[in-house]
Amino acid sequence: MSEKELTKEKSVIEQWGQICSQLKNEVGETAYDSWLKPLTLGSFNDGIMNICVPTRFMRNWVLTHYSDRIHKIWEKKNPKIRSVNFVVQTMQEDMKGLYNPSCRSLLKKISTSPTPHNVYKPQEGMIVTSEFSSQNESLSVPLNPSYTFDNFVVGKTNEFAYAAAKKVAESRNVSFNPLFLYSGVGLGKTHLMHAIAWHIKQQDPNRNIVYLSAEKFMYKFVKALRYKDTAAFKEQFRSVDVLMVDDVQFMGGKDTTQEEFFHTFNSLIEEGRQIIISADKSPADLEGIETRLKSRLGCGLVADIHPTDFDLRIGILENKAKQLGVELPQKVSEFLAQKISSNIRELEGALRRIIAHSQLLSNKEITLDMTQDVLKDMLRSFDRRTTIDEIQRKVAEHFNISVKEMQSSRRARNVARPRQIAMYLAKQLTSRSLPEIGRKFDRDHTTVMHAVRKVEELVIEEPSLAEHVDTLRRQLEI
Ligand code: ADP
Ligand code: MG
Repeated sequence: MSEKELTKEKSVIEQWGQICSQLKNEVGETAYDSWLKPLTLGSFNDGIMNICVPTRFMRNWVLTHYSDRIHKIWEKKNPKIRSVNFVVQTMQEDMKGLYNPSCRSLLKKISTSPTPHNVYKPQEGMIVTSEFSSQNESLSVPLNPSYTFDNFVVGKTNEFAYAAAKKVAESRNVSFNPLFLYSGVGLGKTHLMHAIAWHIKQQDPNRNIVYLSAEKFMYKFVKALRYKDTAAFKEQFRSVDVLMVDDVQFMGGKDTTQEEFFHTFNSLIEEGRQIIISADKSPADLEGIETRLKSRLGCGLVADIHPTDFDLRIGILENKAKQLGVELPQKVSEFLAQKISSNIRELEGALRRIIAHSQLLSNKEITLDMTQDVLKDMLRSFDRRTTIDEIQRKVAEHFNISVKEMQSSRRARNVARPRQIAMYLAKQLTSRSLPEIGRKFDRDHTTVMHAVRKVEELVIEEPSLAEHVDTLRRQLEI
């Protein structure tokens, strides 16, 4: 980048800092923290300024409420800016390598300039600027400033992974190599990896940490092959002290990339550098990964994060609400923790939605009614995820019969009633049509219709049956 361009970008960053301070004064701290603080500065070309927004929902909000204002203030400060774009760029996308070029942070190029608070604020050396000669792109991706150990809520389901991550972050000597973290989606793997990186950097800013997704590793490697520049690719890893590769399951079936990764991995381990890996499965269960790599991945410490339990979800909600400066009634957090159990990202998304809604209506009080209303669509889509197989399994188990019996032609009452209840619940809890439900029970749609009507009558007439249905529904909805 030329000296002139650098100066131009530096001044844009300074202006953004000033704009943020001005907006904070105008809209107040709470609204600012919720909506404007998460914005980050993207690229600036030909008078078009790109600003990155973490979610689509937030983008819509910012567009309707703040974009005109931002544009006006900016125009005044810098007449060269003709328009301001808001581009969705989640960390997730970034890490998966779906890199949106409009959102390449200006800071990657100017890591020493004073930074406004809401651009990813890398500490010196935090963004690894080792440039790949033929492409001029950095290897590592920026770390999320809020993914720290302090912001990680520890519970029974993640305490082991947390302890392992903490140990790796705090140890001067390599203790387990590699540290392999695995779990289902949205349970905190990426958060813990970033937390390790922040911690190490704080202790020792000179350590060279590279954090990237497996997809990005792959993408870079394939590009290097195309440019016949694998030597430069390898060179980038030479000075790495800590290598973190997120979501290695994406290397499944990609043999050449795996081979390269295997070599990179081995040479770093031999030199005593720390490696941290994450995946959605344990090393042994990874699909499409060569046996020798699997065994290498599993030879350090393997720590899994289990699905969250109710207490942890409550803890996370309280923590998050506090960070956002919002008081969350106990009933609301219990409702959310019960309804949204699959992953924390969704739990956080729901919380943000409620807060946004309350702020839209001039800080209207957050109540259970309002929560149920605002999340109607979202909760319905969760319900849809309940499958007929699951319903059959749960109902059969509950009435102590087998799924086979449930699907059989037997008409004995002790089998027929549970079958009808399962059909009824399938109609209520999934979006499947009557014929689709029928097929799962080896029946036609009129039988299903009859079952649904029958159970509707029975829940009114027989309280004990209503109780069974209610218990089952609750179990299936969690
Ligand atoms: P994964 O990488 O396992 O898919 P992430 O690390 O991206 O999951 O986590 C998803 C979201 O949930 C992030 O916003 C993260 O901050 C949050 N999160 C996950 N676990 C916790 C936790 N224990 N405490 C606080 N936030 C958490
Ligand atoms: Mg992740």
